[in-house]
Amino acid sequence: MNLRNILIFAICFLTFSCKKTVLKPQTQYVLGTICNINLFESGTSDLYQELFSELNAIDDKFNVNKEYSEISVVNQNAGSGIATNVSQEVYELVRRSKEYAMLTENSFNPLLGAIIKLWGIGSDFQKVPEEKEIQEAIKHCDPNSIVLSQTDGMYFIEITDKNASLDLGAIVKGFAADKLVKLLKEKKVSRAILDLGGNIYVFGDKSKSDQNSLWQVGIKNPIMPQANPIEIVSLKAGSVVTSGNYERFFIQDGIVYHHIFDGKTGRPAQSGLASVTVISENSELCDVLATALFVAGTTENFIKRFDEQTIKIVFVDLDGTVQILSI
Ligand code: AMP
Ligand code: MG
Repeated sequence: MNLRNILIFAICFLTFSCKKTVLKPQTQYVLGTICNINLFESGTSDLYQELFSELNAIDDKFNVNKEYSEISVVNQNAGSGIATNVSQEVYELVRRSKEYAMLTENSFNPLLGAIIKLWGIGSDFQKVPEEKEIQEAIKHCDPNSIVLSQTDGMYFIEITDKNASLDLGAIVKGFAADKLVKLLKEKKVSRAILDLGGNIYVFGDKSKSDQNSLWQVGIKNPIMPQANPIEIVSLKAGSVVTSGNYERFFIQDGIVYHHIFDGKTGRPAQSGLASVTVISENSELCDVLATALFVAGTTENFIKRFDEQTIKIVFVDLDGTVQILSI
């Protein structure tokens, strides 16, 4: 090989080895749901791997079905007088959850474990409990039983009620989406779609050539989830999160029992709504509010406490009537 050929070979080799392959959107089952990530032109194997390991790390900390998750250990220590040493991340999310409970008058309640376990919706043990069991469980859902403390840079959570337990299922996907978005910004990703079990985040400019083009996100028809979207939301970037009665449920004697509970009745919330979608830049807030508004209904008042954010809400009632609110 002469010098010229060697140079051509070297240039070709470098060009091919530096150009990373762009993968198609990737899907994994994590956080108890199907998570799909589309990184478009930034979709390298390394970056997909990094994002999914972040989701798995979050799952390992917060999943109540994993015996050794930090939240499970806190729950196991409930009522024992032991304050569990947790990571700052777990501490902060539980601290904010307690605050959200206060702001939503417990419509969002991170300490509903007693009720959630009693009904077991989505598990092999799902059932309609006896009224006296429900009344007993209601007594063990007071967020004031969550005691947070810090000493010497260490973080502790204690649950003072032995029969109470944390369940952050209504906030963790929003929290996870925000965390991934932070990573996308750090990595200078130009655009992405995160779909964490229907908890959507559209990130960056939809089109490179047209900076004004908007993402379109469809809202499922809760009455006929397989049908066309009941509403389409257009947005520059941000999160679209839905809580709905069709997501996890069972039917007994013609009655639908779904997975979003009203802590006051100890039963699946009956606010006349089939779904609530919340749209804002903050996915965690969307997740909390979608659950809280699903429980509280359209006539609640606490939403005005969140007016420092631009929030849009799409309510769909049990007849399929759509009502849109902008704050
Ligand atoms: P989401 O789909 O975000 O509305 O969250 C529903 C999940 O959060 C359920 O599967 C329960 O684990 C938990 N959950 C149910 N009802 C509530 C509630 N009122 N407040 C907080 N978490 C709840
Ligand atoms: Mg939620």
